[in-house]
Amino acid sequence: MYVFINGEFLPKEEAKVSVFDHGFLYGDGVFEGIRSYKRLVFKLDEHIERLYKSAHILMLRIPYSKEEMKKIIIETLKKNQLEDAYIRVIVSRGEGDLGLDPRKCKNPQVVIITDKIVLYPEEIYKKGLSIITVPTRRNLTESLNPQIKSLNYLNNILAKIEAVNCGYEEAIMLNHNGFVSECTGDNIFIIRENTLITPPPYASVLRGITAHTVMRLASQVLGLSVQESFFTRYDVYTAEEVFLTGTAAEIVPVVKVDGRVIGEGKPGNNTLRLIEEFRILTTKEGVRY
Ligand code: PMP
Repeated sequence: MYVFINGEFLPKEEAKVSVFDHGFLYGDGVFEGIRSYKRLVFKLDEHIERLYKSAHILMLRIPYSKEEMKKIIIETLKKNQLEDAYIRVIVSRGEGDLGLDPRKCKNPQVVIITDKIVLYPEEIYKKGLSIITVPTRRNLTESLNPQIKSLNYLNNILAKIEAVNCGYEEAIMLNHNGFVSECTGDNIFIIRENTLITPPPYASVLRGITAHTVMRLASQVLGLSVQESFFTRYDVYTAEEVFLTGTAAEIVPVVKVDGRVIGEGKPGNNTLRLIEEFRILTTKEGVRY
């Protein structure tokens, strides 16, 4: 496996960054997780846009144009001869001293890793997932805005630890007001009375690219109303259907939350249709390599 690192393709074992990199010392950097299906990179433009927006907020200069970055990603995929891949793009602040000052870091590091994708077992997509709500609250948008996809994922990792400690793989995080925000690595949706609802970005949510695609499919193909609005755990427990979305996970039906059975305790019809439509879309749309 070859890793792209600052203009070179190096074997995995040789691809290294400095221990003085502020990405390592402070989580100072940004990343994206992208997928390709049968040699089609799904939503590449959208992921690149989000990467550059995250970097812009951190005043982190990416030493390639967006077009160059897209080309490098495609080259990395070709080099590794991957048909279906998970692509991780990382831009870290680069080497500095032991202080925080990003101005001392002159060379941002660009790393692209492409690998095979590990999914939830197929059974989860057929039978649904049980999740819980965890105590750790999602970051305040005014402190560390979840819309910045930064290398600092500790908020999510703390929630993941709490989920795993209780025997669950995924968990709902509430925001500081007690409204549902998202899961540790996925967005959350509920369906009630032919309406698909997800919390808005200002509920402390990363604006998901899969979520955006799902909202479009729900409205244009399934004919559902689509809303971005705050909701509580009450709304989750009493929803007809619940599911999660993310680049790696795609669309995951949820059948139990905090011990409460959702709907009939199996993936709902709308959720199953969305999974089907989403899978069709990924085989036709994307940047070919
Ligand atoms: N929320 C969080 C916290 C995430 O890490 C992710 C995965 N990137 C998502 C939501 C889903 O976003 P996307 O559909 O763009 O992968």
